[in-house]
This record gives sequence, C-alpha cells and structure tokens, in this order.
Amino acid sequence: MILMQGKGVSKGVAHGPIYFFRRAEAVSARAQNADPETEKQRIAAAQEQAIAQLEQLAEKAREEAGDEAAVLFETHAMFVEDEDYVDCMMTALDERHCSAEEAVELAGKEFAAMLAAMDDAYMQARAADIQDVTRRIVNNLMGVAEGGIESDVPVILAADDLAPSETLQLDKSKILGFITQGGSGNSHTAILARTMGIPAICGLGESLSAEMNGRDAYIDGDTGQVAIEPDEITLGAFQAKFETQREMKELMEAMKGQKDVTLDGRDMMLYCNIGSPEDVAAVQANDGQGIGLFRSEFLYLAASDYPSEEEQFRAYKAVASAMGGKRVVIRTLDIGADKQVDYFKLQKEENPALGVRAIRICLNRPEVFRTQLRALYRASAYGKVAIMFPMITSVWEVKECKRACQKVMAELDKEGVPYRRDTEIGVMIETPASIFVAEELAREVDFFSVGTNDLTQYTLACDRQANDLGKFFDPHHPAVLRALKMAADAAHKAGIWIGICGELGADLEMLETFLAIGIDELSVAPTAVLPLRAKIRKSIAKTCTLERLES
Ligand code: PEP
Ligand code: MG
Repeated sequence: MILMQGKGVSKGVAHGPIYFFRRAEAVSARAQNADPETEKQRIAAAQEQAIAQLEQLAEKAREEAGDEAAVLFETHAMFVEDEDYVDCMMTALDERHCSAEEAVELAGKEFAAMLAAMDDAYMQARAADIQDVTRRIVNNLMGVAEGGIESDVPVILAADDLAPSETLQLDKSKILGFITQGGSGNSHTAILARTMGIPAICGLGESLSAEMNGRDAYIDGDTGQVAIEPDEITLGAFQAKFETQREMKELMEAMKGQKDVTLDGRDMMLYCNIGSPEDVAAVQANDGQGIGLFRSEFLYLAASDYPSEEEQFRAYKAVASAMGGKRVVIRTLDIGADKQVDYFKLQKEENPALGVRAIRICLNRPEVFRTQLRALYRASAYGKVAIMFPMITSVWEVKECKRACQKVMAELDKEGVPYRRDTEIGVMIETPASIFVAEELAREVDFFSVGTNDLTQYTLACDRQANDLGKFFDPHHPAVLRALKMAADAAHKAGIWIGICGELGADLEMLETFLAIGIDELSVAPTAVLPLRAKIRKSIAKTCTLERLES
C-alpha cells in the first residue's frame, strides 16, 4: 500500500485506476533569423483562434458548471489580448528575431513568474491561468490538439497540475476524481471540481508520480488522503465511506426529475434560496423547481455606491432567463440591522433590528426603491419574476409598495419598455404584526413567504445575531409554529399560496408539521432540495398532525 497525504479541495470518496494526464506534446520551433512581421501575423492569427476557442469553452462551462466557471474563460480571453503580455511578445520578436512560439513562451514565463512571486495566494494561483493561455496560443501556432483520456473505464485523473481549460475539455463521464502534485484550494481546477461535485486532492507533491499510472486507488476529498492498493484495514475504512456516499448519491440522483408530491397527492413547491446570479448553477444541479428567495441585497453589499438600474437589471435578468420560465421570487432590498452598507449612511441605532431597515428604508427613500423596481419589472420580461417585500408590519406599507409598482409600470408603458404586467407581488411574513393582520395582507398580495429567522427573533424577543441565547432562540417554539398556522389559514382563506424561506424550511424533522399546517412551498439552500424531496415523496399529508403546535 502507498498512502499519500494532500489537501482535500473537493469533497467525496472516489475509487478507480489512476490515469496520468498526457499533455499534447509540443516541441516549439526555434528560429534564429525569423522575420518579425511574419511572426507577428502568425501570433495575431493564433490569438484570434484562441479567443474563438475560449468563447466556445465559456459557453460549455456555462452549461456544465455555471457562470463562475464561464467567467474564467472570459478572463482567459482577456489575457490573450492583455497589452503588457502582447507587448512582451512583440519586443521579443523585434529584438531577438526569434520564432512566434518562442516569443509567446517567453512572455508567458515572464508573466507567470511575476504572478507567482506575489504575496496574495489568489494572484499566485493566476499564474496557472497565464500558463494555460500561453500553452493555448503556442498549440495554435503549431496546430497541436489538446490531450485527452485514452481509457475505456472511468479513472482518477492524476497530473502535475491541471490547467482550467484542460479540466473543462476532459470528458467528465470518464473522471472519478482529480489528484495533482501542485495546485491549491483557490485554483480554478479546485473550483470547477467542487462545482461539478467531483472529489479532488491537490498538493500531493513529488509523492505522486507517473509510475503510479494504472494502479488501483481510493481518494478521499474530505481528508486529502490517497491510498494506492490499500491494505485490508485502510480498504475497509475507505469502502465503508464510499458505500454510504454511493447509497446517498444514488438515492439523491434518483430524486432528480421527480415530482415534489406526497404519497397521497399533496404537491409541495420545492424552491431555492440564492444570494447572487452565480448560485443558479447550484439550483439547477440540485433540480430546484424555482427560486423562492433571491436576496437582492448582495448587489448593494458588494458595491461601493448605489448599484445602477442597469446593473441590477442585468443581474435579475440573468437569473430570470437562466431559470427558463420557472418562478423567481426576488426580494427587494433588505438592509439595515446586521446588513450595513456604508454609502446608505444609515443613522446609528440603539436597536437596529427594530430600526430603519428593509422596506422602511425603501419607503423612506423612494428614488432607491424606484431604481430597484424598474430593474425588477424590466427583468420580468425575461422569465417568471415575482417581487417580494421584506419586514412588512402594516397594510398601508403594502399599499404604498403597490403604488410604487404602479408608478413604475406607468413609466415603462410610456417609454415602451417591455415588462410583465401580471408580475406576482408577495410579502414576507416575519413580524408578529404581519401575523395579526395576515387576513388583510393576504387580500393585497399574490403570496406569502415566511421568514422564520426573523419571525423567531421578533416573536420570541430573541436577537438572532446573539450566540449566547442558546435554547431561548427556538424556531420550533409553539408560538412560532402557531404563527405559521395563522398565516397559512389567512393565505388560504384569500386563495393565495404560502411558503417558508427561513432556515426552518430545510428542517426535515418539521416537514410533517408543515404539511399539516398546509404550507405550499419550501425555499431552501440548493443542497437541501433532494433530501427534502425524498422525504416529501414518502410522506402522507393527511396523516400529518399539528402535535408540535401544542406546548
Ligand atoms: C428570514 O428572516 O427568515 C429570512 C428568510 O430573511 P433573512 O434571513 O434574509 O432576514
Ligand atoms: Mg428576514
């Protein structure tokens, strides 16, 4: 047995033969008296080809691994034309009269060394990107195609280090896991492996060698361990973990594409919570049926000044179109309390959770609200957007929100800008006041979504930020659950749907209570979708009881 220790960068256990990645061998042409002008033209053609390849790769990445992976190749396309990088090639041609291949390699080496010498681990990891881009241009100059996996069975792919484009171009159905000598948790290969759910270990150093090619191995992306031809005890431990994981995976895979319906035919909408457009990839990978809470404040928290209508429109449109007609509930700005944004210059408050936050800020600052509503309505033309208002306590607030919506729709009509007039409007139920006036609220809107995090905080008078309240902060408290029931009854009386988008929604133990209460939708973290689906499909709604509501 050979036991190696690296750094686990993507979770999971994999078992299979090791396959050493073969890079397309290229010996670049050397020249002593090349004509700089001819070589410059060759470089220009190879760059153009590289950009076209990278655009295709970005497209493929977007489909397979989401926007974050696609951005990587868009960045590579920018590197191809980076002024300093290209200048470095041109100078080499003019001064050394070398071949185009040598000039590109030289520029690549110089830039990679510069990045690798930086203090910042993220920038160091970018050296691999420059090497990747350089290899691509050189390969294009020499007409070399990228390397692949020549194996009939799936393998654990081993390499010194893998360039992101190499990772993406490989046939995923043949890869059980990645192990590399170099690399880091920040490398894009690690990021891609995580997004694709493939176990990966990096930093194995020289202990990983080409002689291991073809040998049977187990890898554990949680612990960073690699065992080649393990002894009986090690094998037992790896196999037990592998088995549990396989059973779980099979069960979850089998849940994809299945309906969220109980044995006795009660439908539940199983949606996801997201914080940015990049999270849509996880929603799709976990087969979420929609987005029940898009916390739009990420746009404001990430910016140093108010995000423009255009910026917001682009983000909302990206999510709406990526979800292809499935419902996307976007919550209007919910800052204040624990989410502070400097440029809003909010007054310091003694009790910020009870202060000017969320909808109160929007109603106090109509211009900020109008910008967001315009972006939301414009995005509604590209999918099934629903707008949700947070921290509602009074009916007049909702009426004012609706007037603001009407005004924005009238503006867009006048400008001839397309939008969906039937865009649903909903409110978050997360204050005790909203429970007590739920019947009136329900008559004003298309849906309710219960924010159990804040509802627990305000109902139990327990600061959700404080970590020393322990058992006093209890989302299972009968008071919270009865509040849920009151909201659900009010919603159904008015003929609208009600969901839960707070953390409690993902609590498997609570599912039967939610079914008994009559909750229609659960919006949870993407990874919570399939376990919930498995449980929903085994439940019988009519036998579920309200037992937990009794104290
Ligand atoms: C909630 O309060 O339960 C909720 C979903 O909103 P947030 O956690 O963003 O306040
Ligand atoms: Mg909340």
